[in-house]
Amino acid sequence: MNATSSLAPTDPEFDYIIVGAGSAGCVLANRLSANGKHSVLLLEAGPKDSNIWIHVPLGYGKLFKEKSVNWMYQTEPEPELKGRQVFQPRGKTLGGSSSINGLLYVRGQHEDYDRWRQLGNTGWGYDDVLPYFKRAENQSRGADQYHGTGGPLPVSNMIVTDPLSKAFIDAAVESGLPYNPDFNGATQEGVGLFQTTTRNGRRASTSVAYLGPAKSRSNLKIETSAHAQRILFEGRRAVGVEYRQGAALRRARARREVVVSSGAYNSPQLLQLSGVGPGDLLRKHGIEVVLDAAGVGHDLQDHMQVRIVMRCSQKITLNDTINHPLRRTMAGARYALFRKGWLTIAAGTAG
Ligand SMILES: Cc1cc2nc3c(=O)[nH]c(=O)nc-3n(C[C@H](O)[C@H](O)[C@H](O)COP(=O)(O)OP(=O)(O)OC[C@H]3O[C@@H](n4cnc5c(N)ncnc54)[C@H](O)[C@@H]3O)c2cc1C
Repeated sequence: MNATSSLAPTDPEFDYIIVGAGSAGCVLANRLSANGKHSVLLLEAGPKDSNIWIHVPLGYGKLFKEKSVNWMYQTEPEPELKGRQVFQPRGKTLGGSSSINGLLYVRGQHEDYDRWRQLGNTGWGYDDVLPYFKRAENQSRGADQYHGTGGPLPVSNMIVTDPLSKAFIDAAVESGLPYNPDFNGATQEGVGLFQTTTRNGRRASTSVAYLGPAKSRSNLKIETSAHAQRILFEGRRAVGVEYRQGAALRRARARREVVVSSGAYNSPQLLQLSGVGPGDLLRKHGIEVVLDAAGVGHDLQDHMQVRIVMRCSQKITLNDTINHPLRRTMAGARYALFRKGWLTIAAGTAG
């Protein structure tokens, strides 16, 4: 395949083309179009985020294997797991994975950012990124050294007070772990309740938080069901994108930049399909090499998740509610009327 530009003078032109309207893409679409001076095209392979379960926090469970909004990847057989393949959900809709994720607001450890800086990534130490976290945030507990208010991303306490979560925290503290009221504060270590990216019991994806306020801007064009096939190059310069939308193969030109925000799996895939990646691999598949970059598509790190199932001696669990027709109906009505109750919970309550 030839990735060099086959753009025609009639192809539409934008200052920026953003490929992928996920966590990163929606933020960039908002920020790059904010001053009104630049035209921005945002391409999203998935549909609009109109599935109602996207907006109900408990809907997380429904979307985990919902192929209309989820790429539903499977890893290759993993040698370290005796050849097991692991299911890898990824969002495929406006908001991307922030529309299907577990809603837990956890920035990560200070030390991890500092290590990135030590490795030579200037600007990525914890002190460097903290002002941006604060600026993004609308923290329901108010502003402090680690938190901001007035930003686009709402961060809220859990609405449900759940006796099992409290028992879990108490047990952990009894066994010697420190209680931590804020996993995004001075340290991540310890046990406590999570905060969530929600507002009034509804999911605040980046589509809601960032694209919502921007989508009526005349300089921002959003195309859904628009699957980028390759970045177009003139020499080493990215000048456009070719994308499939329904039966049509379309092209658009970028005057300034093509931003690849297609997620941890699809970004390297798109780069490789466009000729940026390990040269030998690309040639094997008949792709013309624009840049021989061995690292593209390598060194992915992810966290393992192990599910532990316990029997509870009292009928106080979420399962007791959703498996009981009357209690389930009441929980649905409570959510519809007051945005409270079990439907407001995220993928986890305490950690
Ligand atoms: C099930 C699940 C639970 C999670 N739980 C949590 C949690 O509780 N807390 C937390 O902090 N993080 C959680 N995460 C992780 C977090 O959601 C992701 O790290 C984050 O959303 C990644 O953002 P991104 O912008 O890199 O990619 P994404 O948000 O995945 O966005 C990529 C977008 O690009 C689109 N795209 C891909 N390829 C193309 C193409 N060729 N053309 C056009 N569009 C394309 C995709 O459809 C998608 O919309 C979870 C993730 C998942 C999947």
